Amino acid sequence: MRAVRFYAPKDVRLMDVPTPEPRPGDVVCRVARAGICGTDYSIYSGEASFIGMVRFPMTPGHEWSGIVESVGSDVKGLQPGDRVVGDTAVSCGMCYECLMGQYNHCKELRAVGTVLTWDGGWAEYILMPARHMFRLPDGVSFDNGALVEPVATGLLSLMLTDMQIGDTVLVQGTGPIGIAAAKLAKLHGASKVIITGRKDYKLDLSLTMGIDNAINVTREPLGETVRALVGAHGVDRVIEASGSTELFKESIGLTRPGGVMSVVAFYDKPLAEFNIDSLVFGDVTIKPVPGSLGMFKPVLRLMESGMLDMSSIITHRCTLEQAAEALKEMKTNNDTKIKIMIEMEA
Ligand SMILES: [Zn+2]
Ligand SMILES: [Zn+2]
Repeated sequence: MRAVRFYAPKDVRLMDVPTPEPRPGDVVCRVARAGICGTDYSIYSGEASFIGMVRFPMTPGHEWSGIVESVGSDVKGLQPGDRVVGDTAVSCGMCYECLMGQYNHCKELRAVGTVLTWDGGWAEYILMPARHMFRLPDGVSFDNGALVEPVATGLLSLMLTDMQIGDTVLVQGTGPIGIAAAKLAKLHGASKVIITGRKDYKLDLSLTMGIDNAINVTREPLGETVRALVGAHGVDRVIEASGSTELFKESIGLTRPGGVMSVVAFYDKPLAEFNIDSLVFGDVTIKPVPGSLGMFKPVLRLMESGMLDMSSIITHRCTLEQAAEALKEMKTNNDTKIKIMIEMEA
């Protein structure tokens, strides 16, 4: 089969590799869609803070949807032809963390296409343990299916802020996770959701999805504008999805006393000159977002119900053959790039 393989940072190749065969408990799926993520780019560029934990060579692609092609012995509940999405990581299922239900902290965890790498979905086929698969409901498209992972991460970043009905919410960043979190905050009953970014196209798209206010931080003063919208005390909940250390710092000052901020981005560089007292005086709780644990099902249910359609964030498409080039070009002409989707025949 054809697969895009990373051999090292800046060394990405389209090649023929053996098509995987399912072992007991595994499924092999034909990939229909696979998203290109900022994390994939930071591995490609070598800037990812976890780059030393990536096992090369490997196939990237942790956001994918497809069709079960074959199943190994002992697989129950999935059969060839089933439409599915895959989890972002493969756990051992037996260690202390796994048995505590926190398999995202599994000592043997192999993340799909990233840390301690399990081969991902930038290929015609992907092998996964059946226990890490989710059925894609009828009526949910492969496009939305491949967006479940970033949307689930957005949902966890919202849930961890403990948002209440009527709260005001500030989302920093107009990437897929930021836009998803903002949309979900509206669905969850926020009275006002403000999103910030640097590109008008992405901010305008957010407004068409029902987000209340958009701030272009290259033109508008962030603090003043936010306070004019929600009051001098600041916002109840902040989701930091921009990856900017400056916005991280500014977010703390914009969170109301007793408020919560979740952090869902990778920053790739340490934060210098951080005033810890701003947390103490501001009574701000910071919650890191360790992925998307437990959030695939609720996202799939919202998509199935018709309440959540994220397909409009797919702004660009390419084939598997074009994926390496699309990745290399990801940061150029990116005024309108939100999600680039690799589309395969399925
Ligand atoms: Zn991602
Ligand atoms: Zn484990």
